[in-house]
Amino acid sequence: MLDADFFRRWMTTAAASVEREAERLTALDSAIGDADHGSNLQRGFRAVTAALEKEAPGTPGAVLTLAGRQLISTVGGASGPLYGTLLRRTGKALGDTAEVGAEQLAAALREGVDGVMKLGGAAPGDKTMIDALLPAADALASGFAAARAAAEEGAEATTPLQARKGRASYLGERSIGHQDPGATSSALLIAALADTAEADGE
Ligand SMILES: [Mg+2]
Repeated sequence: MLDADFFRRWMTTAAASVEREAERLTALDSAIGDADHGSNLQRGFRAVTAALEKEAPGTPGAVLTLAGRQLISTVGGASGPLYGTLLRRTGKALGDTAEVGAEQLAAALREGVDGVMKLGGAAPGDKTMIDALLPAADALASGFAAARAAAEEGAEATTPLQARKGRASYLGERSIGHQDPGATSSALLIAALADTAEADGE
């Protein structure tokens, strides 16, 4: 079972991953966006880490809800509301139980991804974070490693796509040939979840 501490470690592991990969995310965003995705997420996840230390939420749902709120208020552009919605909706779906199972998390994450699709109006294949998140949410029922692999595959599969949503869509065909920064950071978030689970022997 996964408790609040597990979810706190997921978020701090994600924050560390964003610190490590910020330059790569910004480089991807400079190719088809406005070169701020790494620095934006860095600011957001630093705020998440600080808030989790200060407030120490006691349930999995409360951890994700707090993290989502921080991302909405500190990450600019479209990414903040989208990532914030993902975590808040997932957190809300987990309710206020002290521990959740992997299947419950899979179902909640799927609700979070649905919330992102609704907010951004993006569908699979539009070259967005959905291309990593949706396969990951679907694969999570088969395990954390499967979710990680599905997210990474989904992110890599955005390279040949033409963007149909977000700033990259303004580039039209010139968006082809670049991996989507949002799908890439989404895969980092899922990899952080798998890392946290593996460290726990889940
Ligand atoms: Mg950007």
